[in-house]
Amino acid sequence: MSKGFLLVISGPSGCGKGTLCKKILERNEKLIFSVSATTRMPRRGETNGINYFFINKERFSNMIEEKEFLEYANVHGNLYGTPKQFVLEQVEKGEIVILEIDVQGALQVKEAYPEAVFVFLLPPSMSELKNRIKKRGTESEKDIDIRLKNAFEELKFIDEYDYIVINDELIEAVEKTEAIIIAEKLKVRRLKNILEKIID
Ligand code: 5GP
Repeated sequence: MSKGFLLVISGPSGCGKGTLCKKILERNEKLIFSVSATTRMPRRGETNGINYFFINKERFSNMIEEKEFLEYANVHGNLYGTPKQFVLEQVEKGEIVILEIDVQGALQVKEAYPEAVFVFLLPPSMSELKNRIKKRGTESEKDIDIRLKNAFEELKFIDEYDYIVINDELIEAVEKTEAIIIAEKLKVRRLKNILEKIID
């Protein structure tokens, strides 16, 4: 069986990464979402083990020490990390695993797993981004400013990514991301062992 791959999705806070991932996972049952660990407090409606593993700083530090993270970063003042064992097991089994992580984390993944696929999700404009974060109503004025400042910082790393998807109409962004997944699955280097099947 051929190996799966990691699909890293980054993009500024408020550009709709969460909604996009949710929709893609609904439409593609075989895709797997990597649930990150974070020291951030849960927002209303978030469930432990589904949206994140909500853990305290001490536990997070232990996990760093035990090398349990594929990558981790301090994002907007909280720690976030991808538990390593689960995602690597899934990739070995041939699955495609979605990592919704920030740029700092994506760069760490690229260093360790250059064969991963990197998608940068953008809002139609930065002013629209600000509207979306405000409308979400989950961040204070101060947090909104931090997130916007970070958004501009993140844009500087866009060249490290393989694909850009603009999230104007959600369904179009979902279809574009699905097209990326299909194209990536068809890469020759991922399909080498298919020759064994067709040469009879
Ligand atoms: P939020 O607090 O809005 O859920 O997420 C804030 C930021 O943290 C988002 O940009 C999100 O992609 C990023 N993030 C979530 N999980 C991880 C992770 O495991 N690692 C890294 N590096 N970033 C993450």
